[in-house]
Amino acid sequence: MGFHIERTQFDAWLTAQRKTCDVYAPKRFVGGGGFSDTDCVRYAPVTSVSEIEFAQKSDYSFKEVLTPISQTLFFFTENEVKESDPPKKGAIIFLRSCDLHALKRLDDMYLHNGPTDYYYARLRERIRIVLMGCGESFENCFCVSMGTNVSDNYDMSVNVENDTYHIDCKDRMWQDFFTVNGCTTGEVKPAHVTENQITVKVPEQLSAAVASSTMWNEYDGRCINCGRCNFVCPTCTCFTMQDLYYTDNAKVGERRRVWASCMVDGFTDVAGGGSYRKKNGERMRFKVLHKVLDYKQRNGYHMCVGCGRCDDICPEYISFSNCVNKLEAAMKEVSK
Ligand code: SF4
Ligand code: SF4
Repeated sequence: MGFHIERTQFDAWLTAQRKTCDVYAPKRFVGGGGFSDTDCVRYAPVTSVSEIEFAQKSDYSFKEVLTPISQTLFFFTENEVKESDPPKKGAIIFLRSCDLHALKRLDDMYLHNGPTDYYYARLRERIRIVLMGCGESFENCFCVSMGTNVSDNYDMSVNVENDTYHIDCKDRMWQDFFTVNGCTTGEVKPAHVTENQITVKVPEQLSAAVASSTMWNEYDGRCINCGRCNFVCPTCTCFTMQDLYYTDNAKVGERRRVWASCMVDGFTDVAGGGSYRKKNGERMRFKVLHKVLDYKQRNGYHMCVGCGRCDDICPEYISFSNCVNKLEAAMKEVSK
């Protein structure tokens, strides 16, 4: 059911939802960017629609709502373990189409890839989605090539036009709210892009043989293994464990899981001083082929959703989409 609503009506809806849910959306942090005098747009709780950044792609993805960068799993003493408290409220998350497709990837990793991840599941089952329509493509996006530019599995969608919000609402209780509050009805379809400036082609015949191409050598020198590309990616799910012991009693502490990155030193270190991928080009190869080759072999669709955040954030201007577009020539090279 479609509605055309004013900001005050949208704010009234948001205030009503916040009694039972935290509402997360992209929010601008002035001066919080990686360089001086730049802003950062990242997910955070919002209390008013005016706080939501609709005009810019978020630098970081929504994944930190579901899988925080550092999450305490349990507390321990010498003889007791106490699980960390579950979130007190459910959550409503404002997502773009590519990120909604990324949520499916997170679900695959945390819910369907072996045993269910308890800590992910306990918030995931209480999440509602508001799809943010994309009226235009942002820099470095290639969602159309990855088939993630359209989504219909949302609870509500919103297109913004000046101070009017065009809403397609599937939730009956939310529909009732808008109706009772006198919102104008009318048909609404979520806005989506049909082309991006960047196009990406994953070769049909792509195989693991491409690992022996010389194309990866370029990244040995260019990449500085900072791991930023992993941290902004909505589909990177690797984490590591840290046990923290309190200083006043070294037998008491907590276990946390924290994000890990396949691009940084130490990720593939093993007992005996070994390391599977020492060179940066080898790490780039692993990351790229995981996103567009082996994940698809297991799940039937690519892991990468084409959000372009890795290209936006790389301090060395390394482009993931360029790299994928080099795979065709690399396959020819290795098949000779
Ligand atoms: S590709 Fe870029 S962002 Fe990723 S680790 Fe290398 S330098 Fe950092
Ligand atoms: S690999 Fe890059 S473009 Fe693909 S989903 Fe991750 S951050 Fe987005």
